[in-house]
Amino acid sequence: MKISIIGNNLTGLILAKALYNKNINVEIFYVDKSKKHKSNRTIAITNKNMNFVEKNLFHISKKFINPINEIGIATENSNNKEIFNFKNKKNLFYLIRNKDLLKILKKNLKGVKLNKIKSQNFYESLLNKNKNKRDLIINCEKNNIYNKKFFHKKFNKNYNSIAFTFIINHEPVNNNKALQIFTKHGPLAFLPLSKFQTSIVFSINKKSFIRSNSDVFDLFKKYNKIYKKIKFSQIEKVELKFEVARHYYHDEILLFGDSLHQIHPLAGQGFNMTIRDLQILINEIIQIKDLGLPINKNLLKEFQAKTKPYNFLYSNSINLIETFFKVDNNFKNKISNSIPLSLNKNKIFKNFIMKVADEGFSFF
Ligand SMILES: Cc1cc2nc3c(=O)[nH]c(=O)nc-3n(C[C@H](O)[C@H](O)[C@H](O)COP(=O)(O)OP(=O)(O)OC[C@H]3O[C@@H](n4cnc5c(N)ncnc54)[C@H](O)[C@@H]3O)c2cc1C
Repeated sequence: MKISIIGNNLTGLILAKALYNKNINVEIFYVDKSKKHKSNRTIAITNKNMNFVEKNLFHISKKFINPINEIGIATENSNNKEIFNFKNKKNLFYLIRNKDLLKILKKNLKGVKLNKIKSQNFYESLLNKNKNKRDLIINCEKNNIYNKKFFHKKFNKNYNSIAFTFIINHEPVNNNKALQIFTKHGPLAFLPLSKFQTSIVFSINKKSFIRSNSDVFDLFKKYNKIYKKIKFSQIEKVELKFEVARHYYHDEILLFGDSLHQIHPLAGQGFNMTIRDLQILINEIIQIKDLGLPINKNLLKEFQAKTKPYNFLYSNSINLIETFFKVDNNFKNKISNSIPLSLNKNKIFKNFIMKVADEGFSFF
């Protein structure tokens, strides 16, 4: 059994590691982006996914992660009061820098061959060459010839927003509680990285007319009531899109990662969805391998059947939250302010929300 992965991004590398650990012959093909850009981006990994990674894939030293055991949700007009507060005996998620996760993954992939893609013809020739020597191509890139040719049918939504991400250095505080404020400009997330550092994701509506980085920092200062003596890192921005694939596979090519589902970052779930997909895919492949069968369309069909409905529901639930708070802000948060306090005290409701955030809809 031989699997070719396209893309040496987080998705491609974690997938390669999972297959390699199951003794599957895997190789990675990648485009060398070679711009040495130091990203400040961070990623929140849920408790259940972190357990899966630690148990089945690789170890992440504690120095790279910050555990989060409480999440507060507030709005523009909730007067610093949280409309919801989620706390658990277990940690809710762990925050890690994207660049640290990439580095750890690369270190753990010593046995996997990485091949640079040198020409655009590569994609066509991979399809034609060695057809009977390879079982599957897994495409973790978002904009290559396969995406354009075979997977152009998507569900799209334009969020009309830009996500600004940066790190703040601040006076030391106990920093294990995340906060999300649904401001009138868009959701602002405070994601603690350590006692001294917090990662900020501010998704700002284009109508807010943000012209420069200092406009973003000024807006941020208006909402920050927690951190003192702040120093800002460089800012990164990305135009937010919702893109969900209508078809997960074409012949022997399977899409994977953000190219299956790219969603709003407000719930920090994009990569977590990928880790959940990964567990299902690996199980399917191992079943076939143990029976001594080659990978065939039935496996891809089965993977799609087991993931697509849940992913569709999940990504649309995140859109529902995004739209709810947009509408709520247009009504000066009168809708969220009328949420009875009893709901925030309702253990069944809150446990349900925490379970969905941790595990997706797969526990149903
Ligand atoms: C600001 C931000 C914060 C995020 N935080 C989390 C998190 O805390 N937890 C989590 O599980 N996932 C999060 N995600 C999603 C996560 O970053 C991607 O799923 C993951 O990085 C997969 O990327 P890759 O490196 O494999 O693929 P690549 O092909 O290298 O990267 C995918 C690219 O898509 C961009 N992208 C991701 N989502 C969107 C979007 N909705 N609109 C436009 N561009 C997008 C990313 O910036 C990245 O450059 C976040 C995404 C963004 C944009």
